[in-house]
Amino acid sequence: MENRLNLYNTLTKKVETFVPRVDGKVSMYTCGPTVYHFAHIGNLRSYIMEDALEKFLRYLGYDVTRVMNITDVGHLSSDADTGEDKMLKGAKREKKTVLEIADFYTKAFFSDCEKLQIKRPDVVEPATNCIDEFIKVISALLEKGYAYEAGGNIYFDTSKLKEYYVLSNQNEEELAVGVREGVEEDTNKRSKTDFVLWFTKSKFDDQELKWESPWGIGYPGWHIECSCISMKHLGEYLDIHCGGVDNIFPHHTNEIAQSEAFLGHEWCGYWFHVLHLNDSTGKMSKSKGDFLTVSLLEQKGYDPLAYRMFCLQSHYRKPLEFSYPVLDNVAQTYQKLLARIRALPKEGEVDMAAAAPYKEAFIEAVGSDMNTSMGFTVLYDVLKADLNGPTKRWLIGDFDQVLSLNLLAEEETAEVDGELAAWVEERIAARKAAKKAKDFAQADAIRAELLEKGVVIKDTREGTLWELAK
Ligand code: AMP
Ligand code: ZN
Repeated sequence: MENRLNLYNTLTKKVETFVPRVDGKVSMYTCGPTVYHFAHIGNLRSYIMEDALEKFLRYLGYDVTRVMNITDVGHLSSDADTGEDKMLKGAKREKKTVLEIADFYTKAFFSDCEKLQIKRPDVVEPATNCIDEFIKVISALLEKGYAYEAGGNIYFDTSKLKEYYVLSNQNEEELAVGVREGVEEDTNKRSKTDFVLWFTKSKFDDQELKWESPWGIGYPGWHIECSCISMKHLGEYLDIHCGGVDNIFPHHTNEIAQSEAFLGHEWCGYWFHVLHLNDSTGKMSKSKGDFLTVSLLEQKGYDPLAYRMFCLQSHYRKPLEFSYPVLDNVAQTYQKLLARIRALPKEGEVDMAAAAPYKEAFIEAVGSDMNTSMGFTVLYDVLKADLNGPTKRWLIGDFDQVLSLNLLAEEETAEVDGELAAWVEERIAARKAAKKAKDFAQADAIRAELLEKGVVIKDTREGTLWELAK
């Protein structure tokens, strides 16, 4: 099939035409959440943009299989395997077991995703389900000489690679400083960039989740999880790997190192990274304690989809600053957009020939490195265009397969029973006919009749809108 998505690839540092390994089929992997706390809206920015990417691929006609892990073991406070265990930290904070915490925050994550219309990946796999796979790959890495045992733990030996820094431009010194910031160095490592594949004698005596392994009772490191879960479900080759930009180093760099050392060939062709959502004090992060969640936005009266629109209106490769005034603006724009769409006349036939150039423009816009904000420009062009209502609605529904903003939802009618809605529509049509016949007394009588039933109507440029009185 024709490949119509041009995408920035962190691996080549260029915008390239995306061509999957197998024509028409896409394998996609996403680093899932570490389930020790609620996802903050920064995390969810990454998942919204990845969701739009997946949906656009499907929109173009690809058969997509998407896999996501749930990190429920092995992720330490520093991505370089030092510091506190995040899951233990969550369990202590809430005086619960690690499994209770994992279960609670996994459910909370998917509930947030649902509110934001983020599609659940085809496969969702908790790391604790895949211990056998981790052991198999780590054993092979030891056998091939890519891993060593030190101080009871198993480490990946980065010095064995021809090239380790395939994803990032930073030099070794700079990266090493970033990694060590605020956390003590692991003296078992032969070189600073080596990373843990399996912890046995770790400093966490109270580690709850431990498994038998050829190297003693222990638990996996974080990086090995994603490589193994991807290979388990998607095989030896991966088309697109996604994540937030902070995952580039060390997490994704390490994933490439161990996957390619294990497989003996290149593993993943395209790397998609979403820039961070920041607040006025800097990067939003869970460890800051006080962070913004979807529930908090809801409590403040925002529709979660207004936040989705907030994200889609900016480019995923630009940092995005969160502020309430900007969100207020987007929330208003969203409501106005919905009202304009609801007011579109319903009479007439969809004109596919007239719709085609707009669909083409939408593909062109979003296909330019996921420029979703240009996608909105095309959407507004449709609203302004000389097209009949049904054609506009058809195009909007078509674009909404990617945007997922419930653009065609009939909010008012959805909440009332169908019989009442049908009666209201009939009365509005009768009032329109009365007005056309200049029988204003009759038109007013119908308005009063509607009001008696608690239905308020409003005449707008785009037709008569109605809602139930509050
Ligand atoms: P975590 O649950 O910490 O493993 O993070 C889940 C996802 O959110 C990862 O892909 C991170 O790269 C991404 N992420 C973390 N912080 C932010 C942020 N402030 N803005 C956007 N994405 C983020
Ligand atoms: Zn990952």
